[in-house]
Amino acid sequence: MSISESQIASSSTPRNDGWSYGVILLIFVLGSVGLVGCSPVLPVPENTVVVASTEPNNDFDHAQAVGLSATQAVQINGTLSASDNLDVFFLGELQQGQRIVAEIKGNNLFQNGDIVLGLFDANQDVAIFEENVVTVSQTETVTLIVREAGNYYLGVSESSPTGAVGFPYSMVVTLGSEEIPAPRKQIVYLNYNGVPSVTIGTNSFTNVRSFSELPYGLGTPAVADKITKQVQGDYPQLNIQILSSYDTQEPQDPHSVVFVCANDGAFFGMADQIDWYNQDLSDRAIIFTGLLATSNLTENQFVDATANVVAHELGHLVGLAHTHDHTELMDQSTPMSYLSKTQNFHRASLADFPIGWEDSVQLLQFSLGVLQP
Ligand SMILES: [Zn+2]
Repeated sequence: MSISESQIASSSTPRNDGWSYGVILLIFVLGSVGLVGCSPVLPVPENTVVVASTEPNNDFDHAQAVGLSATQAVQINGTLSASDNLDVFFLGELQQGQRIVAEIKGNNLFQNGDIVLGLFDANQDVAIFEENVVTVSQTETVTLIVREAGNYYLGVSESSPTGAVGFPYSMVVTLGSEEIPAPRKQIVYLNYNGVPSVTIGTNSFTNVRSFSELPYGLGTPAVADKITKQVQGDYPQLNIQILSSYDTQEPQDPHSVVFVCANDGAFFGMADQIDWYNQDLSDRAIIFTGLLATSNLTENQFVDATANVVAHELGHLVGLAHTHDHTELMDQSTPMSYLSKTQNFHRASLADFPIGWEDSVQLLQFSLGVLQP
């Protein structure tokens, strides 16, 4: 198993996610293992100013300005701990097409922890965030192409508090320019047929049963059609084509597949990755409808709940992270009383980072593109 595969496996453990979670497929290039027992130090590019993280910098209002410019990189050195697990830096005004590259190295000797990097715009909306398991000392790189000019913030946190031990990190932030990734049309195939086996992230599932095997008369083409139409309605005016195996063969063009099966699962759904910018047009997700079918729901409630889970996992595949809002489709953990009603995409507080918001509609417009009326 390569380093990157073990990273994926580590990240695929449930993240306090009551009913579904995306498997984060890491796109980072991992650096060499650093020295045990030392604070992490990255090589400093020429013309770099070195900044020590200085409290208070735990929210947007107290973000620490770091003096980043096109001709000057910034190296930031800080420490995360249980009592202070968030540092926020103000990057200043950036222009459309500029590229922020944040190369970060953590050193967590005593506990497994994920360093999480988030890039936020002036509205405190996330542009991109990445999480990674940093056990001893690894380097990861996060790249953001600025789609809209404005002020930007960079937040550093961790997903598992390390207690009093602390979690030193070192980060080099540089500014360059790059073509803005164009929105990409996504074709999605809802496969209700079942398959002998399927792999989602690093998780393999066998005997994936056809939706038609559901009890209580729920596994019918008519119910599947309602689910498909509701998911299509969750992605309005966006350049996405959602097809059903009840209507058509699997397409020849690159497409993602969401398997909607009759199996029970310990959770309702799982996705390959959070595909920021929709860079991969051939992702996979799986929805386990067995538990929903035996949850004493009416047919309409079952349709709502299943469609919500499909739209949620599909959201990960086109670049959305979790939120904290039971009426929003990317909600991290939704009680059945909300899951069995209609959810939709709207701006909500981000769940996978201590601060910030996710404007899911805007991110979908960025990654997929908007259909002309
Ligand atoms: Zn999820």
